[in-house]
Amino acid sequence: MTRIAFIGLGNMGGGMAANLAARRHEVAAFDLSADALARAADAGCRIADSAADAARAADAVVTMLPAGQHVEAVYREILGSLAPGAVLIDCSTIDVATARTIAALAREQGLEAVDAPVSGGIAAAAAGTLTFMVGGSADGFARARPILADMGKAVIHAGDHGAGQAAKICNNMILGATMLVTCEAFALAEKLGLDAQAFYDVASVSSGQSWSMTSYCPVPGVGPETPADRDYRGGFAAALMLKDLKLAQEAAATAGARTPMGALAEQSYAAFVAGEGHAALDFSAIIKTL
Ligand code: NAD
Repeated sequence: MTRIAFIGLGNMGGGMAANLAARRHEVAAFDLSADALARAADAGCRIADSAADAARAADAVVTMLPAGQHVEAVYREILGSLAPGAVLIDCSTIDVATARTIAALAREQGLEAVDAPVSGGIAAAAAGTLTFMVGGSADGFARARPILADMGKAVIHAGDHGAGQAAKICNNMILGATMLVTCEAFALAEKLGLDAQAFYDVASVSSGQSWSMTSYCPVPGVGPETPADRDYRGGFAAALMLKDLKLAQEAAATAGARTPMGALAEQSYAAFVAGEGHAALDFSAIIKTL
C-alpha cells in the first residue's frame, strides 16, 4: 500500500485514480471540479481540500492535467509540502521543456520526478490497460514503475527527463499524418470507382498498411469496429490530436528539426477542429472533409 496524491480526475485521471484505489493504495484526490471529486469519492479515494493537502505525507504524486501550464502550476504549489523521498509522476501530455523544468524544480528539493504520458484513451484508463512511456532517472523509473503498472499493461523507460513526452508526441505525429493520408487514400479510391472494402482488402496486406488502416479504419463498415461505425463518437477527440500535433511542431521548432508532414497534419487538423461540432469528434472524422 502506497500513499498516493492524485491530482486531475477528469476523463482519464478519474479511471486511473479508481484503479489505484481498487489496488488498495491510499489515494488522496484533488480536482477543481466538484463532480470529478464526487466520482473519486465513490471510487474509494479520500477527497483533499487542495493539491497541497493531497500531497502532504504522500509517497507519490500522480498528475493528469490538461496542459503544461496546469502541471507546472500544481507542482510549484505542492513542492514545499512533499515528504522527503516522494516521487512525482506526471501522466499528462505536455511539452518536453516543461517536463524538464519540473524535473529540475523537483531535484532542487531533493525529489525525483518522471514524465509518464500514456497511450490509450478513456476506456483504457478505466480498464487499467494504458501504456506508459517514461522519462526520468533509473531511480525515478524504478520507484514510479509499480504505481504505473497498477494502471496499465505496459511501462516503458524511454530515457532521461522529457523522453516520455518526446516519445508521445513523435508517436502521435505519425498517427496524425498516417490517419490523414489513409483518409485521403480512401477518398481518392472512391473517386476512382474503387470499392472501399476492396481497397481495404488490398492495402491492409500491402505496403500501405498502418495502424490507422487496420486497427482504426476511418470508413464505416470496413475493418474492425472503430469510431467510424459510431458516427465518429467516442474514441480520440480531434481537439486532442490537434493539441499533440501542436506540441510536436513546437518541439520541432525548438529542436531545429524539419517536420513538413507533421506541419501539414497540424494545419489540416486545425482547419478541421475549427469546423462546427468537429472538436469532440474522433480524429478519423477528418475523412468527412475530403
Ligand atoms: P480532462 O479535461 O477530462 O481532465 C483534466 C482534469 O484536470 C479536469 O477534471 C480539471 O478539472 C482538472 N484540473 C485542471 N486544472 C487543475 C488544477 N489546477 N488542480 C486540480 N485539477 C485541475 O482531460 P483528460 O481527457 O482526462 O486528459 C488529461 C491529460 O491526458 C491531457 O494532458 C490529455 O492530453 C492526456 N490524454 C488524454 C487522452 C484521452 O483520450 N482523453 C488520451 C491520452 C492522453
